[in-house]
Amino acid sequence: MLLGALIDSGLSIDELKGELARLPLAGYSVNAAVAQRGVIRGTHVSVDLDGSHNASHSIHDFLDMVEASDFSRSVKDKSQRVLERLEEAETRVHGEVHQLQELGDIDTIIDVVGVVAGLELLGIEKLYSSPLPAGWGVVSTRKGALPVPAPATAQLMAMAKAKVAPPKGPYVAAGELVTPTGAALITTLASFEAPAITLEQVGYGLGTRDNPEIPNVLALWIGETVGSSALGQVSLLETNIDDMSPEVLGYVQEELMRRGALDAWFSPIQMKKSRPAVKLSVLCRPNMESALVKIILAETSTLGIRVQTLNRYEAEREVVAVETSFGAARVKIKKEADVIVSVSPEFEDCKEIAQRAQDHIPGGVNSPVRSFKSVGGTPLFIQRGKGSRIWDADGNELVDYVGSWGPLILGHAHDSVVEAVERALGKGLTFGAPTEGEVELAKMIVDALPSVDMVRLVSSGTEATMSAIRAARAFTGRSKIVKFAGCYHGHNDGLLVEAGSGGATYSIPNSAGVPEGYARETLVADYNDVNSVQRLFDSHPAEIAAVILEPVAANMGVVPPAPGFLEGLRLLTANNDALLIFDEVITGFRVAYGGAQTLYGIVPDLTCLGKIIGGGCRWGPTAEGGMSWSGSAPGQYVPGWHTVRKPACGNGGDSNPQGLAAPGTYEGLEAASARLADGLAAAALKAEVPLTINRVGSIMTAFFNGGPVEGWDSVAASDRERYSAYFHLMLERGVYLAPSPFEAAFVSTAHTPEDIGATLEAAEYALARV
Ligand code: PLP
Repeated sequence: MLLGALIDSGLSIDELKGELARLPLAGYSVNAAVAQRGVIRGTHVSVDLDGSHNASHSIHDFLDMVEASDFSRSVKDKSQRVLERLEEAETRVHGEVHQLQELGDIDTIIDVVGVVAGLELLGIEKLYSSPLPAGWGVVSTRKGALPVPAPATAQLMAMAKAKVAPPKGPYVAAGELVTPTGAALITTLASFEAPAITLEQVGYGLGTRDNPEIPNVLALWIGETVGSSALGQVSLLETNIDDMSPEVLGYVQEELMRRGALDAWFSPIQMKKSRPAVKLSVLCRPNMESALVKIILAETSTLGIRVQTLNRYEAEREVVAVETSFGAARVKIKKEADVIVSVSPEFEDCKEIAQRAQDHIPGGVNSPVRSFKSVGGTPLFIQRGKGSRIWDADGNELVDYVGSWGPLILGHAHDSVVEAVERALGKGLTFGAPTEGEVELAKMIVDALPSVDMVRLVSSGTEATMSAIRAARAFTGRSKIVKFAGCYHGHNDGLLVEAGSGGATYSIPNSAGVPEGYARETLVADYNDVNSVQRLFDSHPAEIAAVILEPVAANMGVVPPAPGFLEGLRLLTANNDALLIFDEVITGFRVAYGGAQTLYGIVPDLTCLGKIIGGGCRWGPTAEGGMSWSGSAPGQYVPGWHTVRKPACGNGGDSNPQGLAAPGTYEGLEAASARLADGLAAAALKAEVPLTINRVGSIMTAFFNGGPVEGWDSVAASDRERYSAYFHLMLERGVYLAPSPFEAAFVSTAHTPEDIGATLEAAEYALARV
């Protein structure tokens, strides 16, 4: 009857069948028909079997079927609760039973799961029931004649302290009016209150029998509860426990919540003989009282549970399912006098979404730096960005300082970038042939960077550094490369080597899968220490093809080059016939329009650019990577085979340079960044937190470290735990920083004075608490 009422109230039979198909069950069909009982029209739902089923199932068969299905966790949990209650009632009245006595056909599980899933599909959040009609007489079952209500039905009513209408007055009908399955559903899912509602929908579910006295129907009313807060009744169960392991208590709490408690918590108490102990408190609907008492008695050492019935004002609330790009999630909307007071996503749904990501993506993230491993917690899933702001899947709006790790100098979804990409897309994605756009972009890069005469376009920073190293090896006929501890150049095999303070030692691969032979070709020096490079040239005469570095290190947090460092490297490489490669994937077009080489006046032999010229584009049709070389480098180098060329590179890819060339861009970035850095320093001073802020233009890192921070060793001496606390406090206040203490914060032209002000307010709050 409940299924019929749900269908009659608007649930589509096809949707219901689709849900039921999730059960590992065949050989049945569910049919709905409009019919009449007495004078009332409604819907009758029947479950028809094809005869292949053995009629008696055990409750465990049903529980296993539900567990093996791919219903949401909440449908599984609720269905299992109903089935377990049913079993308990049968056991109480018939003793230990292996098969369900009064029922056992598969229509039991269809009814239970169908009703639970149907209620969710219709978005029905709470179910209230009028008193259940007891009925009278005798019902004939497979097991013989049973009194009405059937013993299991009566037991279920008693277990839930259900309100039951006696067989008199309007409830005059003879025969079975509530089946055990119906009683299990109602007593588990509904409470026997009668709140005022605004009625929106009425449906009638028809029973099989046509009752001569009153129509054999169940009416389902759907509506919104009225008023800002409704008074309801709850049971408070309490017990003191002084002899249990906290691990087991945690499990008990989870189990109580899973089985339908509204809340369950522990408070520290001191018992007789000064024994420290905890008080377990459980809040539940009165109909759940006996089920939860049973769990507490079974799972804890307690000998008694105190029970009180309390009146509780309940805020008006609504749970709606929203579709996100990561899957459906429920959102709780709290209202006061019809005005929305708060909107919050269900944590469990967010957790499930994050866990789903891990089913398909190793670790759930596509780069270790995106995981929250170093700060703790779960990575945010970002839904969209505009200007200086991003919005996560929970609907939180945040001021963003990650900026896709650098390229969003103009902020998120800048109109000129979006337009350029759209224009390019309209012309076709890829041709495998040269395009005019490529040439325009190459010219723009040559014009911007003083050291660059020619450009080869590739797809990523990793490919740019790989190509630059291959070019340097081809040109010099040597194989060894010098890199610096703490500098990152993408995931090339030869550059993924231990970036500790290894100094003048051979490197050890820091990723599985990198052959030692590759790593041996890479020598690691200390950033800002020219002597460490000199020693490598001394110990490997005529073996080193190139020195590669981030001219401003940004992948260990921002570490500016010390005075004389870049000059020293230029001289050393020139004297030893090796090439100097600047990896400007972060600094190009950012610390100055002409990159770090312009800012510091150093001319490298090769420059690597990547996402920084893509205006944030990280995908195929833009040329976001560029490996370029100056006149001093060779023409005979064979760069590799790039079969997929990027037609849009002159349209989408150049949008960063185009937008950045506007007068005043870098002055604006400098002013905003300086205000942020100065404000942070002042807040740290006030909070007496040792903080060293390294900044070059619009990239900066606040190290929790007394400083100075000049290389990997001083970077590594920072207080990581303090950063984690700072990170989460800033997030709480709406500011998204890198989820790692050793990354840069990126300021964009979209960060307004208000954004900076709000960030500084958040920082003052956070620094006072770390
Ligand atoms: N070089 C530097 C300095 C980088 O920061 C990065 C990436 O963040 C790369 C190279 C690798 O670039 P991509 O991720 O585009 O391969």
